[in-house]
Amino acid sequence: LKSRLPAVGTTVFTLMSALAAEHGAVNLGQGFPDFGCDPRLLDLVDEAMRAGLNQYPPMTGVPLLRQTIAAKIAALYGHAYDADTEITVTAGATQALTTAILCAVHPGDEVIIIEPAYDSYLPTVQLAGGVPVTVSMRVDDKGYSVPWDEVAAAVSPRTRMIVINTPHNPTGTILRQSDLDTLAGIVAGTDILILSDEVYEHMVYDGQQHASVSRHPALAERAFVVSSFGKTYHVTGWKVGYVAAPASLMAEFRKVHQYNVFTVNTPMQHGLAGYMQDPAPYLALPAFYQKKRDLFRDGLAQTRFTLLPADGTYFQCVRYDGISDLSEAEFAQWLTREIKVAAIPVSAFYSRGKESGIVRFCFAKQDATLQLALERLARI
Ligand code: PMP
Ligand code: GLN
Repeated sequence: LKSRLPAVGTTVFTLMSALAAEHGAVNLGQGFPDFGCDPRLLDLVDEAMRAGLNQYPPMTGVPLLRQTIAAKIAALYGHAYDADTEITVTAGATQALTTAILCAVHPGDEVIIIEPAYDSYLPTVQLAGGVPVTVSMRVDDKGYSVPWDEVAAAVSPRTRMIVINTPHNPTGTILRQSDLDTLAGIVAGTDILILSDEVYEHMVYDGQQHASVSRHPALAERAFVVSSFGKTYHVTGWKVGYVAAPASLMAEFRKVHQYNVFTVNTPMQHGLAGYMQDPAPYLALPAFYQKKRDLFRDGLAQTRFTLLPADGTYFQCVRYDGISDLSEAEFAQWLTREIKVAAIPVSAFYSRGKESGIVRFCFAKQDATLQLALERLARI
């Protein structure tokens, strides 16, 4: 078979998790919690199944879940999406991202991707026949930032979409209102769409606010905004997420969605809808993860790694240039095999494998797991 994605192998997350298991390493590589979700959420799913809610739900998602998502976005970000025409429940954020790209990008259209970037964006653009145009973030002692002048310079008459991600995986950077204003200036007067990956929306630290594209009228009118319950409720394996977009964009999204997955599993949607009636769990998330971030950063400060800022997400990037001159992939493998702590090389988030001497750790782990990893990292 002639491959549609000839450059693609197995994802770095799968490879590093397998290596971690093989060597009995603490897995701070692939991003997922090593603790359970709230038992109440499990009860609600169980109740939904036992109540017989096991057949196809509406194509767009269970109405109560869509209404609750719309109410949450209105309360947090002040944007009133119509639950019937502007919110769709998806099989995780990944399917929302894929479907948004497939419904909007025509062969030959350019899509601007800011690297390091989550690994699904670029291959999906290629599957759509689009042309990925990459711009690299700047990185210095203050951390990573988006070079908006370079994003502006990358825009051409063929640009169809710009993909942004805030809070950002893998760097932990968050976009600020001023970043969104700059982006709005870049796309003003064009028909460029924004695909905003906000799966870590509830993981923003030090009292800072998540700058959602849905809050920014000039961007929201041309944006697909994506989130994921896997991140918010510690259930990454459930693969339920959602997308919000103006009705005209959502109509096109749904044309693809109905032949892509048609719809998303029913009992999980009912369970999530019930659980989401109470905002307390997601409102508690910043404090919950900030404690873990601080524990992990305080420990890493005692090691030979150099910390980069971590304003959002559950990832911490570190420089290892004081320790080794191995490539990032080699260093991550060495760390897994010899020190028994798995990490992800940030080079895996660049299409051309850019080397910066930086690896990413995930701190969505029990404190005991983080402490064990820190003891091992302190021995280097
Ligand atoms: N976007 C980003 C930035 C992510 O980190 C992830 C999770 N790895 C996803 C999308 C995918 O989310 P989901 O598991 O809900 O498909
Ligand atoms: N989003 C997770 C991460 O960045 C992994 C998702 C996956 O395994 N594809 O680690």
